[in-house]
Amino acid sequence: MDAIVQEAAAGIAEVKHAIVIVGGGAAGITVAAELKRHDPGLDIAIVEPSELHWYQPGWTLVGAGVFSRKQTERREEKLIPKGVTWIRAAVASFDPDENAVRLSDGRQVRYDFLIACPGLKIDWDAIEGLTDALGRNGVCSNYRPDTAEYTWQLIKSFRGGTALFTQPAMPIKCAGAPQKIMYLMADHLRRNRELSAASLEFNLAGEALFGVPFFVPPLQKAVDGYGIKVAYKHNLKAIDGSTKTALFSVTGADGKVSEVEKRFDMIHVVPPQTGLDVVRASPLANAAGWIEVDPANLRHVRYPNIFALGDAASTTNAKTAAAVRIQAPIVVANLLAAMKGEPLTRAYDGYGSCPLTVAYGKIVLAEFAYGGKVTPSFPLDPRVPRRSMWLLKTKLLPWLYWSHMFKGGEFDIPHRARGW
Ligand SMILES: Cc1cc2nc3c(=O)[nH]c(=O)nc-3n(C[C@H](O)[C@H](O)[C@H](O)COP(=O)(O)OP(=O)(O)OC[C@H]3O[C@@H](n4cnc5c(N)ncnc54)[C@H](O)[C@@H]3O)c2cc1C
Repeated sequence: MDAIVQEAAAGIAEVKHAIVIVGGGAAGITVAAELKRHDPGLDIAIVEPSELHWYQPGWTLVGAGVFSRKQTERREEKLIPKGVTWIRAAVASFDPDENAVRLSDGRQVRYDFLIACPGLKIDWDAIEGLTDALGRNGVCSNYRPDTAEYTWQLIKSFRGGTALFTQPAMPIKCAGAPQKIMYLMADHLRRNRELSAASLEFNLAGEALFGVPFFVPPLQKAVDGYGIKVAYKHNLKAIDGSTKTALFSVTGADGKVSEVEKRFDMIHVVPPQTGLDVVRASPLANAAGWIEVDPANLRHVRYPNIFALGDAASTTNAKTAAAVRIQAPIVVANLLAAMKGEPLTRAYDGYGSCPLTVAYGKIVLAEFAYGGKVTPSFPLDPRVPRRSMWLLKTKLLPWLYWSHMFKGGEFDIPHRARGW
């Protein structure tokens, strides 16, 4: 049991901790570990319902046959830092005026300070027919570990035909992930001399290959080099696995919306993503359903004893583990200052990063901050696909995640704007 306290088993209806962290994902574990490293005596609890933790950045590599699913999975109890209480339940409602959260099992948890990082909702049901179709009939998605494995099965056995890739409206987790797997599949087919028998098509809700224009040219080059068709303003609405057809709503140049049906042999789907229902229904949310924090100090704009980070936060950075790595020490420093009644001095610049796998062994490492400002960590032209960045993604970053971030290490490779 170690750090796990089963208050429910003991029949306790209400507990109190000085710091309560909601969500034991990338952000929750990192922040808890850093807080404990600063002050081992802090009374911290993590509310997290899941017994498993996933290294989601590895799922693109699972879909491409580079990582096994097991490599991306750990038991949550092994990750909760020593001395931190794990409350194994989901938050069912936030009551910030009472400094409390209500759990799914009816218990109440009170706090002095709250760190909210429960991630986001991947809205599988927003696409009609997807839940039924997913995982068979050629319908896959790297946004779930089991269906990421299915992606690789499909890629391996693909012997020609039409492969569709979809991308919903932003924001989503790792904005590059919908196209990363497309390039890896194209490269796999090319290496096996099967690319000419395939028709690959990228259907995206937006109007540009990538949100930061600086990184569009290398992606356009990859699209052109593989002969991938791109259909902008195509938003997936429904899918039928039995007939292998996908229905898109398409916005024309005149603004008129029409529907287009496309047949596929394989389709990689990325559903729309929103704030979690429990967040959207709470006083913590902004109008769009994200936890409303100051974009610099990451403190809630209405509740000064609440901080938020990661995918759940209203900040406009790329929703990535890379962003969490930079946000966590800022939240920790500002929270410790707030606990002492001191001013908050640390500011987040909106850093996030997206390793764009344009081929096996080659990555364009897109690193950028608020406003699309390009902020690389290395003095190299970031538009150039590099093997070194592939090694970073497949070796160094997973190590950094499990063995550094999750152990409370705050060392980081400094990123900054450079002239290109
Ligand atoms: C396919 C894919 C590829 C990606 N690629 C990259 C990449 O290359 N680089 C990169 O940096 N990032 C990448 N990411 C994004 C990255 O994984 C996320 O941004 C990161 O995990 C966010 O951390 P988080 O802690 O905010 O959310 P999560 O890690 O999702 O954790 C949220 C936690 O909250 C818990 N939770 C949910 N509801 C509740 C509740 N009601 N009460 C309590 N707890 C709750 C969940 O169980 C979960 O453990 C990728 C993601 C995906 C899906």
